Amino acid sequence: MINLPEELLAELQQINGFDKSAFIEAHQHVAATSIRLNPLKKSGLLEEHKKVPWCNDGRYLTERPVFTLDPTYHSGVYYVQEASSMFTGYLLQQIIKDKKGIRVLDLCAAPGGKSTHIASLLDRDSLLISNEVIRARATILDENMTRWGHMNTWVTANDPRDFGRLQGYFDVVVTDAPCSGSGLFRKDKRALEEWSGANVQLCCERQQRILADIWPSLKQDGILIYATCSYSLQEDEDILDWLAGNFEVETVNVAIPAEWGIVKIESKNGICGYRFFPDKVNGEGFFIAAVRKKEPTKEELYPRFKSGHDPKIKQQAGYLLADDNALFMQTGKEEYCALNTQHEQDWHLLQKLVYFRKTGLRLGVPAGKDWIPAHDVALSIDADTHLPGIEVNRDQALRFLKREEMNIEAIDKGWKVVRYNGQGLGWIKSLGNRVNNYLPKHWRIRMEITDIS
Ligand code: SAM
Repeated sequence: MINLPEELLAELQQINGFDKSAFIEAHQHVAATSIRLNPLKKSGLLEEHKKVPWCNDGRYLTERPVFTLDPTYHSGVYYVQEASSMFTGYLLQQIIKDKKGIRVLDLCAAPGGKSTHIASLLDRDSLLISNEVIRARATILDENMTRWGHMNTWVTANDPRDFGRLQGYFDVVVTDAPCSGSGLFRKDKRALEEWSGANVQLCCERQQRILADIWPSLKQDGILIYATCSYSLQEDEDILDWLAGNFEVETVNVAIPAEWGIVKIESKNGICGYRFFPDKVNGEGFFIAAVRKKEPTKEELYPRFKSGHDPKIKQQAGYLLADDNALFMQTGKEEYCALNTQHEQDWHLLQKLVYFRKTGLRLGVPAGKDWIPAHDVALSIDADTHLPGIEVNRDQALRFLKREEMNIEAIDKGWKVVRYNGQGLGWIKSLGNRVNNYLPKHWRIRMEITDIS
């Protein structure tokens, strides 16, 4: 039995759409398990499950499998994401419908639920910067974005204020703010144990700081999407009013079918938001709103940088990619990447201001005449689909992911993408009589698997 904090329940009485007994009842049930399919890694699997109403690629599973033991999870065929937060994609889609070639910042992005979703909604000419200030969490974000496989999604690990220096740079900034987490009580016992009114107040102050820091980086007429997994007015409506009180903003209102069960709210200053109660939707507690920036913001004119494209890298590693127009650059001491041509100037500018974890597609490193392909290429949707590879069964896939002997029959020599259900998992190098496993050590499944074969 989950006992909800009385202080929270009392506060929620003021909130439109709150039904105390239904809310308490919903907390006695386990949260639904949902996933979002990767539209660019279609495998036909899991498609038949029930759809999340506001997300075409969202599916409810009837039970929670051990995702670690599913090789399709490791190849980025789907992302395990709570259903309510998939509404972020719906909102964004309604707002940017016809927009191409835009810059989006997902400011608080780890572990990557919203970023992987946004990546699926943007066109190739758009750029997504997924940022996470906590370095250890940025590593997980990097892995999840790598699995999702887009070259136009980059990962940074910066404090929000570092982006404030980019005046009028982004078309969209998504701030899925750190919050008191009341919306996750069913999934996260710690959120329940640690909840307090005092913490709500601290979170509210931090949310204001984050938004004030990031505000200059948004273009005039750009969109700020603000979300929390808290029900508290202080972290939701009051933040919208704080925005309206401190900046020139306009509300962004989208139509939603009543049967979805989402509660539309309006803050005192007339800004619309959308609240998800677990007794009204098949999902967890969530709050989201979008505002348009109306105040004049001078877009800084940045110098044009000289192209860093290196034809020698293209000569060696070009075969890895399907797109012949990509740029091939040395982006670090031992790092070589491919970028979409139209993002090169962004790279030159941003690398002076922020700490990159991942830019474009990591290609690997030269080794004499050979090229050691990066793990990322095997997972990339931008890789050449004709790269040599082997299709493995589940047992072999799990052995590969554990970096164990894979029991495969002799194959011809060279680099091979290991594919499961047609999707890349990583690389092996065949020496004829044996194969070397090139799965990065930190990607290895550490879980004991007793019934691997
Ligand atoms: N958007 C993510 C997703 O969909 O998977 C979830 C983000 S979570 C709600 C909030 C994130 O903000 C956490 O990853 C947390 O580490 C980060 N964070 C914590 N303090 C922060 C701060 N002061 N500024 C920016 N981000 C912060």
